[in-house]
Amino acid sequence: MQPRFSLTADLVLSREVPEAALPEIDRAVQEANTTLFRRGVPREVPDREVGRITSCTVSGPGMTITLESGGYTRAHDALFRFRKHLAGLLGRHRIGIREIEVRDYLIELQGEIPEDLRLSTLPFVREVGIGEGRITLALSVSAADLENRVPDRLVRLVEEKAEAAAYGGKAEHWELLYESPKRESRFREDPTAEMIRRGWIKHALSRGQWIHGAQSTRLFRTFESLVVQEIIGPLGFTEMIFPKLVPWEVWMKSGHAKGVYPEIYYVSTPKTRDPAYWEEVADHFKVTGEVPVNLIRDKVDGPIGGLCYAQCPSFWPFIGGTTLANDCLPARIFDRSGTSHRYESGGIHGIERVDEFHRIELLWIGTPEQTVETADLLHERYRHLFDEVLELEWRSARVTPWFMAQEGIIGGEGTSERIGTTDYEACLPYSGDWLEFQNVSVNGDKYPRGFNVKVQSGGDLWSGCSGIGLERWTAAFLAQKGFDVDAWPAEIRRRFGDAPEIFRFV
Ligand code: ATP
Ligand code: ZN
Ligand code: MG
Repeated sequence: MQPRFSLTADLVLSREVPEAALPEIDRAVQEANTTLFRRGVPREVPDREVGRITSCTVSGPGMTITLESGGYTRAHDALFRFRKHLAGLLGRHRIGIREIEVRDYLIELQGEIPEDLRLSTLPFVREVGIGEGRITLALSVSAADLENRVPDRLVRLVEEKAEAAAYGGKAEHWELLYESPKRESRFREDPTAEMIRRGWIKHALSRGQWIHGAQSTRLFRTFESLVVQEIIGPLGFTEMIFPKLVPWEVWMKSGHAKGVYPEIYYVSTPKTRDPAYWEEVADHFKVTGEVPVNLIRDKVDGPIGGLCYAQCPSFWPFIGGTTLANDCLPARIFDRSGTSHRYESGGIHGIERVDEFHRIELLWIGTPEQTVETADLLHERYRHLFDEVLELEWRSARVTPWFMAQEGIIGGEGTSERIGTTDYEACLPYSGDWLEFQNVSVNGDKYPRGFNVKVQSGGDLWSGCSGIGLERWTAAFLAQKGFDVDAWPAEIRRRFGDAPEIFRFV
């Protein structure tokens, strides 16, 4: 979309401008329009695309300036460039610029506008107009907002929304990488139903949450020990413990703050831990037997963030703001220290799509070459594991978000073409569907950039991660192999051993 910007601002001065300074100001405006604002702009860019002052009036201890621009030296950039120039000029007359008050700011975007574009709740936007190939946004902004590049961010955001709306419900780009041999399966039930029937699991009291009994837990640990032996050990991943309560600051830097809101479990803290402050809540429960949620809502601060959604963001403050020595790369670590939580709403299904789940997260950091190489090693080892050890029917596919597919960041041979995610999917014989049970992502410099991590060599620093979902592995394995332990692949049978019965019911 083609942007145009126009801006009117009042400059509050420390005293009245003397007559003698007026011609100088006129000259400064001319100069700004012809040279100052053209600085850094390619020669071939036409004048109407470049910021210019269209009017500048002086009255008493104040000035009113109107600027217009296309995409180059945008109106607000031009304003601040001019202010600097003007400050020098007025300084020679012992006049200071006290303040800038923005009267009007108008953004106009021209281009194709998709139908269901929702712009009415954009921050700083006072009024929206949408008509024939044209969007206008009238802003309420301060000079500080302009210095914060609010108009540029709004334009970028509207463009993103327009692209997303134009792309509509089209799924992500999906490209098959590998398909395992077909496997015969005699079992054709939904494994969750069978696990419940056998008393392996029970619904917990929160939504999308299970209590895993001894057998189910043992299968999780069986898979975990396989991952340790086949992946973590041979590739030299070292265990760390990442926090599971994630403050906004982490998600701001990881980029999750751009969109994770519908799926977060939010976390709040008490306004005070003074027992007297909470006494009425406890009393209410003691008398009514109900927990007074509305009363509690008034007594907590936040939300200060949320429960772990993806595991790796919480690691990054460990090395945020540092420069890594070349010889510690590639660094390979993993976390399995706690649960992840997502509000899956109506999507909840069985043990495999739940609000509380268990995942081993592998994380690696290195040069682009090292990062891609680690991903390739992982793919190799996973393939061995799923083909030879678990004997699953599975496939892997490159999934590219639509915006990446549009930008052409797919296929090709270079390392940057490798940025993106590979999903691992297993066939579910009872439904014929495929279930994503884990993934491997090459994230490029997203995290090092977000958390300001550099490398001694001064070169590019990349990272990757792989989330191994234990519920998903279990659902996939049981769906294909059933519950006759003796018929399971030998290595799983050996590790699983005899599943203990703890509880008997009368
Ligand atoms: P889906 O499309 O199935 O919702 P996703 O793309 O949201 O998956 P990722 O964000 O890539 O999943 O998460 C990485 C891994 O975490 C998944 O491969 C899966 O193993 C696990 N996972 C994600 N969401 C859930 C869930 N609700 N229940 C159980 N495991 C999950
Ligand atoms: Zn991750
Ligand atoms: Mg999901």
